[in-house]
Amino acid sequence: SKQEFAAKYKRDFPILKQKINGHDLIYFDNAATTQKPESVLQAVNEYNRKFNANPHRGAHTLSVRSTQAYEAAREKVQSFINAASPAEIIFTRNTTESLNLLANSLEAIVKPGDEILISVLEHHSNILPWQQLAERKNLTLKYLYPDENFRISQEEFEKKLSSKTKILSISQMSNVTGVVNPVKEMAVKAHQQGALVVVDGAQGAPHLKTDMQDLDADFYAFSGHKMLGPLGIGVLYGKENLLNELPPFLKGGGMIEYVTEDYSTYAELPEKFEAGTPNVEGAVGLQAAIDYLENIGMDAIWEHELGLTEYALARMSELDYVEIAGPLDLEKRGGIISFNLTGIHSHDLATIVDSQGVAIRSGHHCAQPLMKYYNFNSTGRASFYLYNERSEVDKFILALKKVREVFGYGS
Ligand code: PMP
Repeated sequence: SKQEFAAKYKRDFPILKQKINGHDLIYFDNAATTQKPESVLQAVNEYNRKFNANPHRGAHTLSVRSTQAYEAAREKVQSFINAASPAEIIFTRNTTESLNLLANSLEAIVKPGDEILISVLEHHSNILPWQQLAERKNLTLKYLYPDENFRISQEEFEKKLSSKTKILSISQMSNVTGVVNPVKEMAVKAHQQGALVVVDGAQGAPHLKTDMQDLDADFYAFSGHKMLGPLGIGVLYGKENLLNELPPFLKGGGMIEYVTEDYSTYAELPEKFEAGTPNVEGAVGLQAAIDYLENIGMDAIWEHELGLTEYALARMSELDYVEIAGPLDLEKRGGIISFNLTGIHSHDLATIVDSQGVAIRSGHHCAQPLMKYYNFNSTGRASFYLYNERSEVDKFILALKKVREVFGYGS
């Protein structure tokens, strides 16, 4: 049953076994970062105990092992997102670094007057790099706006997209409203106009089965820490021919073919984009995280999260003082629920539910343009993952009632 699904996996996560403020921890801040199962902790530990060395640089045995571990992780990521080749997988620190790398490298191929199309629901990390690229190269930055149902309509997209659009950069799932954008359909139309398609998969890859051959985005960015992996390891996928065309962003060791006093030539992909000593333990941890996710199956994870979201939305809607900042229907949405309690600041809300052991986020969620667009000062946000259970939603609802009591509204 659905109940057993989460309970079965929750046992694998040591951090979830503790009490917070005297209550069983209920971790509903998965859109910010996720927890690590024993297998990920062990993989990182084993790497450091047995294989650690600087990869790529040495002939000694540990260096060779470290290189092998790093490249095995790359192949795991390749197969997880069904990329055509490991050369298309660039390891970065996180989604933010992936998008910054890309916006900097794309500088080489944009021309004044080109347009960049993003949406107002993007995370700051999918706004600022494009804002600055537009400023540096005299490009026009255009925004897609969602409708009252929180979705970006096809009409809106077709109105903003044109043959001037050089780059479309869009999130797979909003980290505020939980809305899933029709990125595959958008990519088809953008390609027809000759645009490059970038997908921010920070909230996509951890939850949705993601296949680069099917999606056909030119670039795809995501973070290991949002999918049970370690902090500090992220991915930029890019089509091989495009990555070959682009100049590197960071320069230094590990990414060169040949260096003279006056000029240098760059290494082949993927090293060209990976200057400096890489985060091998992070990559190894990400590999173990992917193993864990694949063992359960992305479709089963998504189905579980949708069931939980449906239940939570229904329970929250029973409370007349809860305002949901996102769609109530389950069509094209995932397990992220932003909300407010009437008359109560989201920071107070998050602090009081924490006193009941419930971890949720509050604030602007690094999406200030979206907050302004919908006139939200801030919101609380509950976000689910495979280890969350219905019984936790019930306790969360009790915690929301508690917040109202603390503020003197009665029960
Ligand atoms: N994009 C989206 C949609 C996100 O939710 C996040 C993380 N909140 C990011 C980008 C940035 O991810 P990171 O902080 O791991 O770089």
